[in-house]
Amino acid sequence: MHKQLNMPVKSIKLRAYKNCYHSAININNKFHSTGKTFPNGKFASCFYFKKGRILMNSLKIAIIGGSLGGLLTGIALREKGHKVDIYERSAGILEDRGAGLVIQPDVEKFLGEHNLATIQEISVPLSHRQFIKGNGNIDKMAMPQLMTSWNRLYRILMDAFPSEYYHSAKRVVDFIENQNELAINFQDGTQVNADYVIAADGIGSVIRNKVLSTVSPTYAGYVAWRGTVNIEELPKDILNFFFDKFSFYQGLNNQILSYFIPNKHSDDSIRLNWVWYETILNKDELNQLMTTDDGRNYQFMLPPNQLPESVIHDQKQKAKKRLPVPFVNLINITKAPFVQPIYDLEVPQMVFDKVILLGDSSFVPRPHTASGVSKAAYNAMQLAATFDMENQTIEELQGKLKEWEVDQLRLGKYLTKMGKQLGDRSALGYRH
Ligand SMILES: Cc1cc2nc3c(=O)[nH]c(=O)nc-3n(C[C@H](O)[C@H](O)[C@H](O)COP(=O)(O)OP(=O)(O)OC[C@H]3O[C@@H](n4cnc5c(N)ncnc54)[C@H](O)[C@@H]3O)c2cc1C
Repeated sequence: MHKQLNMPVKSIKLRAYKNCYHSAININNKFHSTGKTFPNGKFASCFYFKKGRILMNSLKIAIIGGSLGGLLTGIALREKGHKVDIYERSAGILEDRGAGLVIQPDVEKFLGEHNLATIQEISVPLSHRQFIKGNGNIDKMAMPQLMTSWNRLYRILMDAFPSEYYHSAKRVVDFIENQNELAINFQDGTQVNADYVIAADGIGSVIRNKVLSTVSPTYAGYVAWRGTVNIEELPKDILNFFFDKFSFYQGLNNQILSYFIPNKHSDDSIRLNWVWYETILNKDELNQLMTTDDGRNYQFMLPPNQLPESVIHDQKQKAKKRLPVPFVNLINITKAPFVQPIYDLEVPQMVFDKVILLGDSSFVPRPHTASGVSKAAYNAMQLAATFDMENQTIEELQGKLKEWEVDQLRLGKYLTKMGKQLGDRSALGYRH
């Protein structure tokens, strides 16, 4: 039961206010309206009575992490009338990891349901797939597909979420469960309270580490080298070779692919995006790769402009030996390549009473599935449907959350399994 209901309530009057029946609670002969701030300064979620049942129609929800998963969830839950705040540790606008996104039906559905954009407006169409063989032959097959970029989607979602409820430079370090609410602690020493906490804080989630300390990501045995080149900077032969196609080359212990995506800062321009998977089994080698010249060690991604020139040079030499000429040329003209180790993450549970894990904090399917963002969109849409408080008590919501969890666990397990199978099929992560 919710916190206010534990107070010494003497009587309750109902009165209509906008479309919510706010009740005025008599506490020690003083009337207080719910949905307002109480004398102790705490937000009171709005609840009302219907056929003798106590219903809540506005909960205070804190989302930790303001990347795509957090924004998708924040937008969807606000539409259900909840007071949603997003807390993001980064101080400024998040920059993409340079990679593109294959548009999947759940992303399209989300954008459509929230009137944010049509997929045509945010994507680059491709007509074919081409498979480049070791002997130089090329197999082509017609396969129309729409590609977008992380950045394009991020900007649309940021515009759709009210900036006053998006709190940057707020790194969560911990949370404490009090009787009926959660107190969230930030690195800057501040604290906020919420009825529910949603962890959208990615693969290294601090929230998951607290509720599920035994689960952690496991390295898959290979990394993805990544980069993009603006269309204006592409020599004609490279442009013609890759234009309008999703291109693949499968080598021994490595695989490369490329496709065009919208540009970072201009809606009119496009860029060619490539991803080169390479098996690196030796953990020391990986550790060395992920450590910058000034000694900083990154676990999940080494951002652009952090790779030492010597590493980029060695990688270009490797490309010459291993890849078909068009890809070698593409890598040679890429200005700031970067590297991301591939990790697997799978959780056995996503709902922990009033704490919910979603997006990459729960399951990280390998990039071959192109499903990270669409999974987050599905998590968010279904969660918002669960949080529809019309005719629902908190106890009923808790029951619904368990149903949500069953569905989301099924999807997460399916996608992570598929990602591993695709990695194995491409002979990545082990040597032969
Ligand atoms: C900057 C960035 C760029 C990306 N670029 C691409 C891309 O180009 N292509 C692609 O396919 N996928 C990309 N991804 C991954 C993709 O966004 C995710 O797979 C998908 O959107 C679901 O992830 P998520 O939002 O759950 O987690 P993530 O995208 O990992 O976001 C987690 C967020 O939580 C924040 N956070 C972490 N810890 C804390 C804390 N303690 N307190 C507060 N905030 C915290 C992080 O700063 C981050 O913004 C990117 C992710 C990020 C963060």
